[in-house]
Amino acid sequence: MKKQRRQFLSQLTSRIAGLGAMAAAPVLTQAASQSSNSHISVKNIRISREPNKTRLVFDLDGPVEHSLFSLHKPERLVVDLKKTRLMDSGVLQELHSRQLKSIRMGVRNTHDLRIVLDLKSRTTPSSFLLEPKGNNGHRLVVDVKEQSASSSSKYKEMAKKKSLRDVVVAIDAGHGGNDPGATGRLGTHEKNVTLQIARRLKKEIDSTKGMRGELIRSKDRFMRLRDRIKKAHEVDADLMISIHADSFPDVRARGASVYALSVSGATSESARLLAEKENKVDLLFGDVDLNHQDKMVRQVLLDLSLTGTIESSLDIGDEVLKELGRVGRVHKKKVQQAGFAVLKAPNIPAILLETAFISNPKEERKLRSRAHQNKLAKAILRGVNDYFSRKAPPGTWLSEAQEHYVIKKGDTLAEISDKYSLPVSHLRTRNSLRNDQLRVGKTLYIPAS
Ligand SMILES: [Zn+2]
Repeated sequence: MKKQRRQFLSQLTSRIAGLGAMAAAPVLTQAASQSSNSHISVKNIRISREPNKTRLVFDLDGPVEHSLFSLHKPERLVVDLKKTRLMDSGVLQELHSRQLKSIRMGVRNTHDLRIVLDLKSRTTPSSFLLEPKGNNGHRLVVDVKEQSASSSSKYKEMAKKKSLRDVVVAIDAGHGGNDPGATGRLGTHEKNVTLQIARRLKKEIDSTKGMRGELIRSKDRFMRLRDRIKKAHEVDADLMISIHADSFPDVRARGASVYALSVSGATSESARLLAEKENKVDLLFGDVDLNHQDKMVRQVLLDLSLTGTIESSLDIGDEVLKELGRVGRVHKKKVQQAGFAVLKAPNIPAILLETAFISNPKEERKLRSRAHQNKLAKAILRGVNDYFSRKAPPGTWLSEAQEHYVIKKGDTLAEISDKYSLPVSHLRTRNSLRNDQLRVGKTLYIPAS
């Protein structure tokens, strides 16, 4: 044991000798006296830990002359005590805290004691001496305070100033009120399952950092298509998702489909028929007579502003379709395009989901099940997250990154999130990660906390 300690100390001394040459601030005076008597002893070192501060108290048997200086990369604090020795270096092993990784000692100029604090981050050190009082003798107090301007908190401040907003997803439950939509063989109304799925999707979205869901309708009521679009604009939606359930005379028809708007026409005959069917609602219940004088002008303006968002809609649609394919069957393997009125929200990318065929009794049962509705909601969220982790609008939490981190061999998500003081879930969301498996060489976005 003694031999080990001696080895340990001699290693330290040689390490510290090298370290001395790097000392940038020459606070130390080289006036080392040659006389070896009248040494001050450090009898003990006590530690007290606060969230942002570590305090070390050196119990001494006399007043000491000392100096402090910091070294960076890695962060260290060096405490030099003139003509001092440490009675038991074993106490050093107990000294660690949130700021303090470890503590080492060495002897300088044969008489002086050098204590090196290995720190976890950049700190502001300070020290003072205390005279004997009560049961306490001479003491040297060294405080190590975390610097508030660490890279993560600096970014936090920046983020606060810029107030990064959430991506807003408008969730449109199809049909409602006196428009029940399609009805299944078991008597399930489309308007009810769409609202249930919409609510579950909102819950999933709201519990995801950087996103917020807004329901276009939150109860069983009729809404005209143009009012749905208006509502999406009112909530400043970045995306509108319209939720429906398909129906077809042949009960065998099955699977989910994803639609995006087309300006030039439907991609398939079935897409055209469906658009007609879903649009018909306004003909039945709403006043679709557009103001005829400027109808053409408005149409041209609308189409111009739409072309940009159609591409985004197809992109989001792809991601959502991929995810829906993981939890169930898909009807068509590609995002379909058709002239759905509800998708005509200028400047807002929009997709319409036919979640399954309500006309297929097997799928109707699934649509009614809470478990399946949750699965759908989670799949939709994943697709949406995949898209926005790549292409979120500027100024949103999902579009920003305080820095990039290239994954090294042996890295874990927990360690990386710890390094940046972020919840693991934030790293997952910002990078749209399915699980905690990391690919070496891949770059991670480090989000604002
Ligand atoms: Zn519908």
